Amino acid sequence: QLHNKVEDLKGKIRVYVRVRPLSSKEVERACAEAVASEGKQSVVVQDKKNGANRTWDFDQVWAGSELGGNTQEAIFKDTGYLVTSAVDGYNVCIFAYGQTGSGKTFTMFGAGGVGGGMNTATGECGPGAGVAPRAVGELFRVLKERQPQYTYNVTVTMFELYRDGLRDLQARHGDGAKLVIKLAEHSGTGLVVVEGGIETVANSVKDLVDTIAAGADRRAVSSTQMNADSSRSHLICSMVISSTNTRTGSVVRGKLTLVDLAGSERVGKSGAAGEQLKEAQSINKSLSALGDVIAALTSGSAHIPYRNHPLTMMMSDSLGGNAKTLMFVCASPADYNTSETINSLQFAARCK
Ligand code: ADP
Ligand code: MG
Repeated sequence: QLHNKVEDLKGKIRVYVRVRPLSSKEVERACAEAVASEGKQSVVVQDKKNGANRTWDFDQVWAGSELGGNTQEAIFKDTGYLVTSAVDGYNVCIFAYGQTGSGKTFTMFGAGGVGGGMNTATGECGPGAGVAPRAVGELFRVLKERQPQYTYNVTVTMFELYRDGLRDLQARHGDGAKLVIKLAEHSGTGLVVVEGGIETVANSVKDLVDTIAAGADRRAVSSTQMNADSSRSHLICSMVISSTNTRTGSVVRGKLTLVDLAGSERVGKSGAAGEQLKEAQSINKSLSALGDVIAALTSGSAHIPYRNHPLTMMMSDSLGGNAKTLMFVCASPADYNTSETINSLQFAARCK
């Protein structure tokens, strides 16, 4: 069954919707819950503005605490098999979309940061650990299982895209190496490569988690009225896994890319002006470019506009073709956020 699932995913984009519980702020504001799941694959939003319920279908929907738990563990159960695909040589991309405060970072990294919920010595994850630490644990579990028939090399890169500029999250502040994105057809590796970027070899769970955690800590934040910790940049973390068959010497290379996108909210509500407005416009532009690429892929268009934005250039080897892509759409359940939630679900509906 698992195998079929992996085959199914090839070249398609899987969409998982995750609706977090009401936050304490939303409870204080006396928000009502306006988003719920219906079965495992439908999400229903009460659209008060139009006086109607709207329903969308996706590959999976988690809302509230129904259906066996909207937990980090439950979510990874339906995600972790992609790690095996990356070891098998696929390019895998898992990314999170949604307004600021909707749970993207919680889903991709977890409560208390990347390493926060994990025992890096054993690879065991606590309940708060998100996709990244769980994927790292799973990666080294799979690699160990395949030794000694295979030997491995794992490298990690971490970049942040902020206002269309790429920054290496593994470089010390002020190390201003010029970064150039080389698309797969020009990089000589069959993968997107950032020239001038830092690639770190990881030999253990601890190596990899520590590297990712250090990069995530360097990510730029600027506060908005939505969330004091709002992340206004896209974070792109890629692990390249090369495996050598020790008998034949043949090498297979796969890539696992984790992307925590910047908040998708529209400008008005966050009260942005000046620099913040420019920041918001730049984010909107990048997310529409991503939507255009995905729409072109799903409609089977001959031209995929990867080159329209550095974000889509960075993701180009992991969207379409033989890649396996999983999108988490994160959403707040609060009626206060209904219009943002509808926007996010509409974005996701274009990606099916
Ligand atoms: P984003 O990255 O989309 O801006 P966060 O991941 O930072 O949002 O989440 C905002 C807040 O909501 C955080 O305090 C986070 O711990 C909490 N949160 C998000 N998703 C969940 C969830 N599924 N269960 C419990 N708390 C969550
Ligand atoms: Mg975040």
